Amino acid sequence: MFKFSIIYFLFLIAANIYAAQQSIRLYICNNFLKDNCVMLPEFDNTEIAFKYRTNKELKQARFLFASMGSPALTTIGIAFTKLAMSLKLPINGIIKNTIFKQFCGGENLEEAAETAAMLNDYHIGVILDYGVEGKEGEETFDAAVPEFMKAIDFAATQKNISFISLKVTGFARFALLEKMNKNEELNIEEQAEWQRVQNRIDLICSKAAARDIKVLIDAEESWIQNPIDELCDTMMEQYNKTHAIVYNTFQLYLHSRLPFLKISLQKAQQKNYKLGAKLVRGAYMEKERQRAAALGYPSPVQATKEHSDKDYNDSVDYCMEHISYLGLFIGTHNEKSCLQAVAKMQSLNIETKHNNIYFSQLFGMSDNISFNLAAQGFRVAKYLPYGPVKDVMPYLMRRAQENTSVAGQTGRELGLINKELQRRK
Ligand SMILES: Cc1cc2nc3c(=O)[nH]c(=O)nc-3n(C[C@H](O)[C@H](O)[C@H](O)COP(=O)(O)OP(=O)(O)OC[C@H]3O[C@@H](n4cnc5c(N)ncnc54)[C@H](O)[C@@H]3O)c2cc1C
Repeated sequence: MFKFSIIYFLFLIAANIYAAQQSIRLYICNNFLKDNCVMLPEFDNTEIAFKYRTNKELKQARFLFASMGSPALTTIGIAFTKLAMSLKLPINGIIKNTIFKQFCGGENLEEAAETAAMLNDYHIGVILDYGVEGKEGEETFDAAVPEFMKAIDFAATQKNISFISLKVTGFARFALLEKMNKNEELNIEEQAEWQRVQNRIDLICSKAAARDIKVLIDAEESWIQNPIDELCDTMMEQYNKTHAIVYNTFQLYLHSRLPFLKISLQKAQQKNYKLGAKLVRGAYMEKERQRAAALGYPSPVQATKEHSDKDYNDSVDYCMEHISYLGLFIGTHNEKSCLQAVAKMQSLNIETKHNNIYFSQLFGMSDNISFNLAAQGFRVAKYLPYGPVKDVMPYLMRRAQENTSVAGQTGRELGLINKELQRRK
C-alpha cells in the first residue's frame, strides 16, 4: 500500500509538470498565434538534443555540470588551475579532456572543423570564435588579424559556417577604450593607436564582406562600449549595404539598450544600410553593479531579472517587426524567449528558415534548444570557441562561473542529460 502511494504520488508530480509545460505552450499559442496556431518546438526532446553524444560523453558531461553546480568545487578548481598553470604543471591534457572538450571546438581551426562538420550533420551552423582573450600589446593585436583572416577563408569553404565573432578588446588596449568612453581627448600617439585598431577591424570586415561571411562584434563592459558601438556603426555603414555582414551586440540587461536599438535602426535607415543586431541579456552583471556601487553612480543594469527579460523579448519582437531592415541574431539559452520568438515569427507569417533570423547558443550548452529548433527547420548556429588550451582559459573560467551562478541552467542541463541516459537504458 505504502509503495503504491509513493508511485501514485510520483505519477502525480510527473503529470503536473507535463500539464504545466503544455499550458505554457498553449498560452503562447493562444495569445500570440490565435487562429494561426501551429505547435511550437518541444525543448524537452532529449533524443533529438543528444543524438550526437555517446553514453560515455553524456556521463562525462553530467559529471562536469554536477561539479560546476557546486560553488565550492568551482572556486577550488579555478584557483588550482590558475596555480598549476602559473607553475607550468602539465595539466593541459586533463583540461582538454574535460571542460575544454565540453565547451570548445578544438585547439586550432583544423580541430574546430571536425566539430563543425559534426554539427552540420544536424543542420546546425557554426560561429567561429577564436577564443584567445585577455592579452594586450600591439604585437598580440597585430598577430590576431591573420588568425581571423584564416578563419574567414576557412568559413567560406564550409556549408554551415557563415559567421565569425570577435571582441574589440582582442585588437585594442582596454585603457584606450576606457579613455575614449569618457570622451577624453586622445594625444597624438593614442590617435595613431586608435587608427591601428580601426584598420585591424576594417581589414577583417572587408575580407568577411568579400567572402560573404558575417562578423559578430561582441558587447563588453559598459565603460568601454561607446567606442565599440561607434566602430560597429562605421563598419555597418560600409559593409551592410545589401544585407547585414557586421552585427553589433545589444545587451538588454542594460536599461539603455532597447532605446539604443531603436536609434541604431533609425540611423541605419537614414544612412541606407542594414542593421546587424545580435541580442543578448549580458554577461557582466556583477562586475557592472560592483563598479557602479564602488564609484557611486547609478547601476546601468536593470533592477530585476524580469526587467531584463521584458526588454529582451520586446527587442526580439521589435526586430521581427522590422525584419526586412535588419539581420537578427537571437543569442540566448532562455527557452521562453526562444518560444516567444518562434511564436512571433509565426504570428507575423515569417517563414521558419528566414535568411535574416538566427537562433544561437554556446557550444556545450542548451543543446535541447539548438537541436530541437534546427530539427524544426529554424536557422541555428552554435558559438564555437577554439584556440590553445592555455589561451581559452578565461573563456572556460567564465563558463564554469556562469554555470555556478546560474543554478537554474545547470539544473536544467543535468536534468536533461539524466533524462536522456534513462531513456537510452
Ligand atoms: C550566442 C551567445 C552570444 C553571446 N554573446 C555575448 C556578448 O557578446 N556579450 C555579452 O555580454 N554576453 C554575451 N552572451 C552571454 C549572455 O549575455 C548571457 O549572459 C547568457 O546567455 C545568459 O542569458 P540568457 O538569455 O541565456 O538566459 P537567462 O538565464 O534567462 O538570463 C540570465 C541573464 O539575465 C540577466 N539577469 C540575471 N539576473 C538578473 C537580475 N537580478 N537583474 C537584471 N538582470 C539579470 C543577466 O544578463 C544574466 O546573464 C552570449 C550568449 C550567447 C548564447
